[in-house]
Amino acid sequence: PYVIGSECIDTTDMSCVEECPVDCIYEGDRKLYINPKECIDCGACEPVCPVEAIAQDRRVTEENEPHVADNRRFFVEL
Ligand code: SF4
Repeated sequence: PYVIGSECIDTTDMSCVEECPVDCIYEGDRKLYINPKECIDCGACEPVCPVEAIAQDRRVTEENEPHVADNRRFFVEL
């Protein structure tokens, strides 16, 4: 699945939400989260993010690695 990184914190632009064909991007307190069980890996969200916060989980930067787990946790706690 795709993952949203720290660049999204306090940005939550929402362009990706409009682009996602399966509506799997959800709003948290300070950032957006992609539900890894619903994401179909289409990649449509990645280019529309103005702060380049979105990447496929296999390609996230080292800095954003913790967001892969944080993302999963967000949906477990829902
Ligand atoms: Fe939605 Fe596609 Fe982005 Fe996954 S990769 S969050 S399905 S737009």
